[in-house]
Amino acid sequence: MFPIASFEDAAPAEALARRLSEEGIGAATNDDAGEQLLRFLTPHPHAQWHVLVPSDKVQEALDKLRALDASEQILRFAIRCPDCGSTQIEYPQFSRNTLVGNIVPVAAAALGLVEREFYCTACHFTWPPPAEVSDSRDGAR
Ligand SMILES: [Zn+2]
Repeated sequence: MFPIASFEDAAPAEALARRLSEEGIGAATNDDAGEQLLRFLTPHPHAQWHVLVPSDKVQEALDKLRALDASEQILRFAIRCPDCGSTQIEYPQFSRNTLVGNIVPVAAAALGLVEREFYCTACHFTWPPPAEVSDSRDGAR
């Protein structure tokens, strides 16, 4: 399964997965808040609700997303790349494919030396979350 869109909340992610399934693309949702916390020491997860589709359906699903968004605004709550508009984004920006290579940047982010950012897997643009609280209090979205 391959992520094609990410959301801050479960409801719009589940609605999109349901809609894609109706269109014949078996989609699922996954919450990676635990992984963001454990692997990336991220106390305030972002974009943690992913909609996943089978790897061989990615292009079909992305085309379908565009059509559904035009007719039903199904991506209203999706995190979009501000540069290219892609929904294929990750947070934080550290690679999912390496653990050892991330130790220094993850530690630096945990210490506040490096900003955690969204990362666009389509065009490699990075940008900060909209309302990241600098004093690390909860509930200030
Ligand atoms: Zn982009």
